[in-house]
Amino acid sequence: MIVLGIESTAHTFGISLLDAKKKKILCNLRDLYTTEKGGMVPNKVADHHEEICDELLRKAFDETKLSMKDVDLIAFSNAPGLGHALKIGSIFSRTLAMTHNKPLVGVNHCIAHLEVASLVSKAKDPVLLYCSGANTQVIAYDGGKYRIFGETLDIGIGNFIDTFARKLGLGFPGGPHVEKLASKGKKYLPLLYSVKGMDVAFSGLLTHLERKYIGKGKEKKEDVAFSVQETVFAMLIEVAERAMAHCEKNELVLGGGVACNKRLQEMAEIMCKDRKAKCYIPENGLLVDNAAMIAWTGFLMHTKGGITHDPKTLTIDPYERTDDVEVRWR
Ligand code: AMP
Ligand code: MG
Repeated sequence: MIVLGIESTAHTFGISLLDAKKKKILCNLRDLYTTEKGGMVPNKVADHHEEICDELLRKAFDETKLSMKDVDLIAFSNAPGLGHALKIGSIFSRTLAMTHNKPLVGVNHCIAHLEVASLVSKAKDPVLLYCSGANTQVIAYDGGKYRIFGETLDIGIGNFIDTFARKLGLGFPGGPHVEKLASKGKKYLPLLYSVKGMDVAFSGLLTHLERKYIGKGKEKKEDVAFSVQETVFAMLIEVAERAMAHCEKNELVLGGGVACNKRLQEMAEIMCKDRKAKCYIPENGLLVDNAAMIAWTGFLMHTKGGITHDPKTLTIDPYERTDDVEVRWR
């Protein structure tokens, strides 16, 4: 069964073709909206997606030697995300479904980050530590729904790291620069550690860093970056571990661009080893926003949950929470 996956919740426009029964990713293409400065301007992101969508689909078919005739199901991310960006993916996917008379499924992007674990590993029921630019959440299936057990109270971990990097004069995206700098640091500087219940917060730490360290010349940049990583990743691992204990689950999966960070991966592995749990870390191309995870989740929803959405009436939902989704495929 060939599933065409389409991703467009934020800066990434992605197309994937998945042989779902064989769990084989035939292609997983991405094209990113980038900018020198100013971050993501919603209508510019939409322009990017609109310009690239046809070309990327053609490329996917060229690479796989498949055509629309071979596609059995179309799955696209219809929530949550930037409204402007979601809209392009939605129009594109619904038009393809109607023109070629294919069944269609709308997928929640955050749930797809969790479900992808079962595409590439033996994970059965993991807790997801989702660390991306705008999102920071701990999600697990419990009581019939995918629930958020902890999340950021202000900015996403990736946005925090990018802002910190910018203040240090490093380029965008800041994550890889900060990781490189941190690997040369040794001295741990005590920093504000904000875990509140099951939630985390980062903006206070930014202020703390600005007042005490950034541009003050008192401490080495390397040590500041090292201490930042140790602190914020410990916060994330702490809430992930508590969610695992609370739900009595013994699997963890990482998701989101920040999860590409080797130190975060190492800390997750240490925590899981300590509690005799499994730690699943998908390859980078499946950690970041991608269409293969959308195709796989759409396949599960359609085949196991009997879910098909009407392309004429299916809408986007920029603010959909994971527990708004009715789970019929498990
Ligand atoms: P996403 O929103 O999931 O596409 O992830 C984008 C975020 O991941 C950006 O904030 C990046 O700075 C961050 N990121 C990418 N690579 C790394 C890394 N190696 N370490 C930390 N953050 C990273
Ligand atoms: Mg994402």
